[in-house]
Amino acid sequence: LRREGFSSVPNVKWEDVGGLDCLREEFEYSIITPLKYPEVHKTFEVVNEIGILLFGPPGCGKTLIAKAVANEAGANFIHIKGPELLSKFVGESEREVRQLFSRARACSPCIVFFDEVDALSTKRDSEGGSVVERVVNQLLIELDGADQRQGVFVIGATNRPDVMDEALLRSGRLGKHLYVPLPGANERFSILKALVRKKPVDSTVDLRAIAEACENFSGSDLATLINETAKAAVKEKLTSVEATNDDNTYKPRHFKIAHSKVSPS
Ligand code: ATP
Repeated sequence: LRREGFSSVPNVKWEDVGGLDCLREEFEYSIITPLKYPEVHKTFEVVNEIGILLFGPPGCGKTLIAKAVANEAGANFIHIKGPELLSKFVGESEREVRQLFSRARACSPCIVFFDEVDALSTKRDSEGGSVVERVVNQLLIELDGADQRQGVFVIGATNRPDVMDEALLRSGRLGKHLYVPLPGANERFSILKALVRKKPVDSTVDLRAIAEACENFSGSDLATLINETAKAAVKEKLTSVEATNDDNTYKPRHFKIAHSKVSPS
């Protein structure tokens, strides 16, 4: 597989994720505790969904939360982009899917994350239809292989749940569907707090007011805003006429400059 050697426990912590508290609870009992305490789940004969589909607008934290789940569970994380599985060579794509799952089992506990999972949709009438069909069929075989899936969970992410192959979304496959919404003002405040957790923000900065001013911003837009703020602070530092200026924090004025440059995607 192309990404061989890239499975490791991600370093994204829950504190890095803002505003998705209810999803956290959902993941706790559907993936994290089953991986951490498999014997308890076995004792109570819980049947867990092997797969979860995260859907919603781009840049709102689907990848981020999947990584935080793996971190929390102490699980390895294999990140696959849906389109990467679609090789033109006959037989190659199915083999990649098989290898992917055998690698996941070998490094269990493991979470396989399929970004752009809608690329694996037989609903589309693209030229690649037959390759997609073969990949989906192989994927279904892997997801249905109940006794072999010990310690392996799958999370799919998409902006287009409407084009997804229904066979993939059935119970026992990517059977649980969770919406990751565009953040509201309170969630934007949480996201901003998460994003500046380790950054030098001056105490005069009112993050709540900034959150309110950033209507329709996604988490990823807010990350861009923070980066622009950092750039404004650097620019000021390097062009400041007062060479003795030793103030090294982001000030409200830096946020203001950034806000004039970033608009919601
Ligand atoms: P896409 O559908 O485009 O793949 P996504 O939903 O997977 O998007 P992420 O890749 O998780 O989005 O988010 C991109 C970046 O935006 C993150 O690395 C992070 O910096 C920031 N971000 C997005 N959502 C959040 C959030 N809820 N909390 C903190 N940061 C966030």
